[in-house]
Amino acid sequence: MDFSWTLEQDELYDHILSLVQNKLDAGDTDTHQPWTRAQWLLCGDLKLLGLSVPTRYGCEDMGLVFSVSAHLFACAMPIVEYGDEIIKNRILHGLCSGAIVGANAITEENAGSDVLALKTRAVVDGDSYILQGKKSYVSNGPVADLFVVYAVTNPAHGYLGITAFVVEKDTLGLIIGEPFRKMGLTSTPACRISFDACRVPVANRIGKEGQGSQIFKQSMQWERSCLFAGYLGQMERQLERTITYAKERRQFGKPLGKHQAIAHRLADMKVRLEAARLLLYRACWRFDQGLDALLDISLAKLAVSQAAVMGGLDAIHIHGSTGINCEHGIEQMLRDAIPSTIFSGTSEMQRDIIASELGL
Ligand SMILES: Cc1cc2nc3c(=O)[nH]c(=O)nc-3n(C[C@H](O)[C@H](O)[C@H](O)COP(=O)(O)OP(=O)(O)OC[C@H]3O[C@@H](n4cnc5c(N)ncnc54)[C@H](O)[C@@H]3O)c2cc1C
Repeated sequence: MDFSWTLEQDELYDHILSLVQNKLDAGDTDTHQPWTRAQWLLCGDLKLLGLSVPTRYGCEDMGLVFSVSAHLFACAMPIVEYGDEIIKNRILHGLCSGAIVGANAITEENAGSDVLALKTRAVVDGDSYILQGKKSYVSNGPVADLFVVYAVTNPAHGYLGITAFVVEKDTLGLIIGEPFRKMGLTSTPACRISFDACRVPVANRIGKEGQGSQIFKQSMQWERSCLFAGYLGQMERQLERTITYAKERRQFGKPLGKHQAIAHRLADMKVRLEAARLLLYRACWRFDQGLDALLDISLAKLAVSQAAVMGGLDAIHIHGSTGINCEHGIEQMLRDAIPSTIFSGTSEMQRDIIASELGL
């Protein structure tokens, strides 16, 4: 295994990083506001919306990185991997250019980690399915042009009773809720959606009837691996900023970083970042090679999300009162990190997968 980057990858990274810094971060930096269509189209221009691993390329707004990742890994990739040529030709170009914003909807009020408890039904009626039900958490939902939706087609079949559909935003019977407020990833718009006798053409089904669970599971493999590269980027920025602060800020006659307790905290941040990075690179490498990567991806997702939360706490602590002052953006990194232990399968779900892969 060689995880070093090729010259070409290094050049691409530098190129995209400078464009992102100049164009995306130069505008409105209030990440409490939703990102704008103009920013989204810029992501399309930068080819980020069509890349498999866009989030490495650094953007200070984790909410935008999260939105791009959810769009790409949980909406575009299921269509790429399971859609037929007609639906791919109809939709993928718009998803990659930024003309279309994508979202995915599986979670329901009583079906979070337990996705097999879904209640949203899809019943065949001629050359359509009629969808009925409610989804409780849809990232990008308020601005999305299309949704990858999971619904039960055969309640008796459990895992094999779920089917995936593309539902376009103007479809009659699709009701898009008001955006709700969140403590982290604040610039990612999110809402509930519901289906009231919502008629979706059979042509909008992704894959076969009953293949939905498999499609969702595969999309989670993409999300748990590639999306989390964005958090490596956040942790790198966080460590750099915190080291700089620890060198500049002086207390008791010397820089904070010369107090051993502070230096050790920074050393621990570095250890967690590099350990998480290696786990993620190995997981992505195995996924890329077409090898079984289930264990590696869960190990990486757990390690990156935990490191992001612990790094967030350490960064605040070292910055002292500056760390909790919302004007400096240090506390925001913690608020953006906390949801990472919940979405794409909670930490407990990752431990369950790891334990099961260990034969327990
Ligand atoms: C930022 C963010 C974005 C999201 N975006 C989307 C989206 O775009 N589309 C979408 O469909 N959903 C989305 N979700 C929802 C997400 O998929 C769910 O939050 C997640 O699956 C957990 O479900 P839940 O919130 O209902 O928690 P629950 O499943 O109710 O879990 C609550 C707690 O109990 C624990 N728990 C549950 N079962 C067990 C068990 N068997 N053993 C031990 N512990 C257990 C969990 O680990 C967790 O700590 C998003 C969530 C977040 C936070």
